[in-house]
Amino acid sequence: MKLDDNIRYLKGIGEKRAELFHRLGVFTIRDLLYHLPRGYEDRTDVRPVADLQEGESVCVRVSPAGGIRSFRAKNGARVTQVHMSDGTGLLAVTWFHAPYVEKMLRSAEEFILFGKVEFRGRFPGMINPVIEKGEKAGNTTGKIVPIYPCTAGLTQRNIRDSVRVALEALSEAMPEILPEPIQKMYSLMPVNEAIRQIHLPVDFLTFEEARRRLAFEEFFVLQVGIGMAKEQRKTGKAPVFSNVKCIADFAKELPFSLTNAQKRVINEICVDIRRDTPMNRLVQGDVGSGKTMVAAAVMFAAVRSGFQAVMMAPTEILAKQHYENLSKLFKRWNIDVAYLSGGQKVAERKENLEKIANGTAGVIVGTHALITDKVDFYRLGLAITDEQHRFGVRQRTALSGKSESIHTLVMTATPIPRTLSLILYGDLDISIIDELPAGRKKIITKWVPGEKRNQVDAFVIEQLDAGRQAYFVCPLIEESEFIEANAVEEYLDSLIKGAYRGRKIAAMHGRMRAAEKDEIMRRFARGEIEALVSTTVIEVGVDVPNASIMVIENAERFGLSQLHQLRGRVGRGAWQSYCILFCNGGEVAQKRMQVLCENEDGFKIAERDLELRGPGEFLGTRQHGLPQMRVGDLMSDMELLKEAQKAAEIVLKSDPVLQNDEMRGLANEVERTFEKFGGVLN
Ligand code: ADP
Ligand code: MG
Repeated sequence: MKLDDNIRYLKGIGEKRAELFHRLGVFTIRDLLYHLPRGYEDRTDVRPVADLQEGESVCVRVSPAGGIRSFRAKNGARVTQVHMSDGTGLLAVTWFHAPYVEKMLRSAEEFILFGKVEFRGRFPGMINPVIEKGEKAGNTTGKIVPIYPCTAGLTQRNIRDSVRVALEALSEAMPEILPEPIQKMYSLMPVNEAIRQIHLPVDFLTFEEARRRLAFEEFFVLQVGIGMAKEQRKTGKAPVFSNVKCIADFAKELPFSLTNAQKRVINEICVDIRRDTPMNRLVQGDVGSGKTMVAAAVMFAAVRSGFQAVMMAPTEILAKQHYENLSKLFKRWNIDVAYLSGGQKVAERKENLEKIANGTAGVIVGTHALITDKVDFYRLGLAITDEQHRFGVRQRTALSGKSESIHTLVMTATPIPRTLSLILYGDLDISIIDELPAGRKKIITKWVPGEKRNQVDAFVIEQLDAGRQAYFVCPLIEESEFIEANAVEEYLDSLIKGAYRGRKIAAMHGRMRAAEKDEIMRRFARGEIEALVSTTVIEVGVDVPNASIMVIENAERFGLSQLHQLRGRVGRGAWQSYCILFCNGGEVAQKRMQVLCENEDGFKIAERDLELRGPGEFLGTRQHGLPQMRVGDLMSDMELLKEAQKAAEIVLKSDPVLQNDEMRGLANEVERTFEKFGGVLN
């Protein structure tokens, strides 16, 4: 058995289960070994019932003491109740929706339960604990147990079992890509040991070691790739934009005056584009700070200087929106805007490609299609990518690679600390728009527990009746994008069968065709749809000023920066806007929500988030909207990232293009990583 074999060939995985794993993005055994836990449960603590304390999660070894009661509750839920004992005391245990438990309870003498202790009067109790037969115990109870991202039809136990089998079959199979001197220098454990320990840690200290090792490797590969790309970038000559003065005329025609921050950033850019050194600049600005207008001003200068300007957005929705806004904006100067997207009809695409090739189109807007397909530009001089953090490094390079040497601008709302952007975007200059347009109303932000749903619904309906519109961000069920569509549809269903009966609500998700999404967005923008249900796709850039309410389910499961971005979808018009966060989490979660309620500044929010996130929330970088890492966290592992950067420098110094034999594994991994980000290094 090999790492790149399909998981179908793993013992215990049939056709059907393999299918379910595919939904999680797990196709090969390598994928499975890199399907990392999203958290752990500490089941090492086995306690006498007499010692149990309120609120702790522990194991007990107990036997049924008395009859098993099984009945249906008023709401139809199946309830199973039993008293259990270990000789030191009685434990009241209740299961909901667990019909199999009754049979199990009758099939053995002794059981290990793992659950959270809750006192009812003097009695300790557990609700829905994990149960294992006493003689089988030790599979999970008594250990640190990994919790995996999973999908409907696949249980935690299924995944655990498969991972265990794979670890046994391929205990030494993962190639070591870190050069030995680097391993020694940074005291990193061997890769196979790390993979084993991250799935089945013997203790939390060893887990930390394993995580550090895997995160280091990941950062190291990223830094090696960035380093190589930097070297490759041509230091060729870029076109000089002779006419930047025209931006003043452009600004005069706008319905508002530019903020001082916008003006300052435009000036910084103008210095760059008047020179023949290619501009390579990152514009950072909080949501709603008006980055699009800065981009438009610079594109205007490009066109007036005789060059084409291209703008790339990460999603079709956003690209379309930019296209429509820019077409309107540039119309009065007779600048033709072309549009390219994946979902376009052949004839339409052909027409646009022609306009781009013969120079009729001055400005070109589109999605990835712009760089994945061959596009002939007439005279490209400027490339802008919006919401840069959505792309990998390679895509950025690919777009600027369209023409030998052009000016490049990347825009992001992600509040990346400067130190981090310097590492991630090493060779970029940075401009910051640190001011919002005047007259913006503060968005009233409240977090509410699930019980207050009725009040929230009543309020939202009142607002809809007043002509406003709302966004609902669907509960985050799993981290897998593959089931996104179902989750969104189900949530929509629950809304229109519940409090929002008869309202015009539509859902939007990744499985829909571009034309469908377009149509929904257009109808939402025209006000024909009152509320939009979606996942976080809406996060990026969408601008519908009449929408004044943002309702986010399971807010505790998002990073604060992401919530801040979502909130930025409202508060764009004249109306008082609201952001309502449903939060079912404990104390820390509530504190995090409070940070959002009290702060408007994206940088501050990101910092506080980092402080508040405990060591329990180690895995997952989705949080910040930065390039997605498997193990490492670009923000909280900054020190490790710096070490990895140093290590990458050392390695590239002695072997700049990784041509030595012992670098083969590393070279492959760099290639694989950047492919995932959207392109192969060439
Ligand atoms: P972001 O930086 O999040 O991309 P946008 O470019 O979408 O922000 O701008 C948000 C809204 O603010 C848009 O409706 C835009 O027209 C408006 N806007 C931009 N600049 C100004 C300004 N100087 N004064 C008033 N409104 C502005
Ligand atoms: Mg934007």
